[in-house]
Amino acid sequence: MDLASRSAENRIFYGTRARRAILLLLRTGRRYFSASEIHQSLKAEMPSTAMSTVYRTLEMLEGFGTVSRRAEEGKEATFVYCGEEHHHHAICRVCGHVDDVRCDAIDQIKESLERQRAFELDDHTIEFYGRCARCRRDSSNTPQRERRRHHGD
Ligand SMILES: [Zn+2]
Ligand SMILES: [Zn+2]
Ligand SMILES: [Zn+2]
Repeated sequence: MDLASRSAENRIFYGTRARRAILLLLRTGRRYFSASEIHQSLKAEMPSTAMSTVYRTLEMLEGFGTVSRRAEEGKEATFVYCGEEHHHHAICRVCGHVDDVRCDAIDQIKESLERQRAFELDDHTIEFYGRCARCRRDSSNTPQRERRRHHGD
């Protein structure tokens, strides 16, 4: 993240403890959080934080482009920290960890759409799904642990 956006965040969240805590949770979490998850994890430290504060803060952060929202049908909307620079997400199917992916290939796609279809590209959404480095490492141990546990039964 660049310095300009960091200081913008600091200005906006200065003096508001609950908002700072929400921003910190999102920034360090590196995965999607729902509003009720955030509310729940704030409870221990700040039991008086209202759900409406969480919603308002998320709306505000989304407005700045600091977080991005994902809405799946029949599920609560979730939010992930993004910062300022344009990028995409590689989401782990196992643990939900989010890696940022640079968007280098889009110029090529834009050009070929224009050339082949006379299509003018002005926006795009891309998400990548798979298994993160940690889950790939862990999965090589899991079958053995499972077997040991079943033998003990
Ligand atoms: Zn992001
Ligand atoms: Zn994972
Ligand atoms: Zn992109």
